[in-house]
Amino acid sequence: EAVINRIAAGEVIQGPWNAVKEMIENCLDAKATNILVVVKQGGLKLIQIQDNGKGIHKCDMDAVCERFATSKLTTFDDLSSISTYGFRGEALASISHVAHITITSKTANSQCAFKGSYSDGKLKEPVKPCAGTQGTQITVEDLFYNVPTRRKAIKSATEEYNKLYDVISKYAIHNSKTTFTLKKHGENAAIRTQSGSTVDNIQNIYGGEVSRELIKVEHHDEQYKFKVQGHVSNANYNAKKCILLLFINHRLVESSALKKALESVYANYLPKGSHPFMYLSLEIIPQNVDVNVHPTKHEVHFLHEEAIIESVQRVLENVLLDSNK
Ligand code: ADP
Ligand code: MG
Repeated sequence: EAVINRIAAGEVIQGPWNAVKEMIENCLDAKATNILVVVKQGGLKLIQIQDNGKGIHKCDMDAVCERFATSKLTTFDDLSSISTYGFRGEALASISHVAHITITSKTANSQCAFKGSYSDGKLKEPVKPCAGTQGTQITVEDLFYNVPTRRKAIKSATEEYNKLYDVISKYAIHNSKTTFTLKKHGENAAIRTQSGSTVDNIQNIYGGEVSRELIKVEHHDEQYKFKVQGHVSNANYNAKKCILLLFINHRLVESSALKKALESVYANYLPKGSHPFMYLSLEIIPQNVDVNVHPTKHEVHFLHEEAIIESVQRVLENVLLDSNK
């Protein structure tokens, strides 16, 4: 059974970057306004995530790493109308099958924090009281120590670091009220955002060049009942390729169909070979989108996809037209 769990977990957790993604979503679900990530060896040796969210109750500490242990699903109907990021109760369980996890957490009402260590979905020894401030700290060590094939498939710690840098950048931009810090252990912060404006955070992370040319996007579609907002560049962004930060219902996703459609709009406005920057947040009726279908499925599909994509194309066209008047 342990082997099967490990294989399944190795499929869910593809590398440090998506362990980080899942844990950041947990911090945000816990209403954290401050998230600090420290890594060693691109997250392979160590990922430590500290938040100031609501914390985990002592009585829930035993089971947090068990499969389907979730505090976010109360009825079966919730499955189709999920508003929080997580609902599967699979992330921590999966990570615990392919790494060593230590959790220290304190809720507002508790006198002290509690600490537990986990492997293979299970708490290793009873949780112990300890000192700590409100919030949760999760330490993930030696990712894939027991999955040699997966560990060998990972070529470079730098590449893994770059991927998790990218994920944290995007969440930091999308959650501008929350401050994010990313550090390599013992080094200065590589990402440090302030609680403030989205544009400031884009500038902070992607550089002044992109933010100088940003135009705001905001549109409410009555027909298909969705909202799109964000910031897009009105000029070539000096990168090697087009950048699209896409969030659907606050979850970072990919849609190559939407990306292609938006690039084709830009083709009419920017010189050939230009690479725009786009940050877009779509809110769609939860029942119409399956962003949570599978943890490894980042390519997203939703109901009325073609119509919604066309509508977003028109929105982009209009803001580009307006700004070029
Ligand atoms: P899910 O997010 O789908 O519920 P996870 O495996 O990601 O499942 O997390 C399991 C549970 O652990 C969550 O439901 C939550 O109760 C708790 N948890 C995990 N991380 C945090 C955190 N940073 N702050 C508070 N609670 C957390
Ligand atoms: Mg989760």
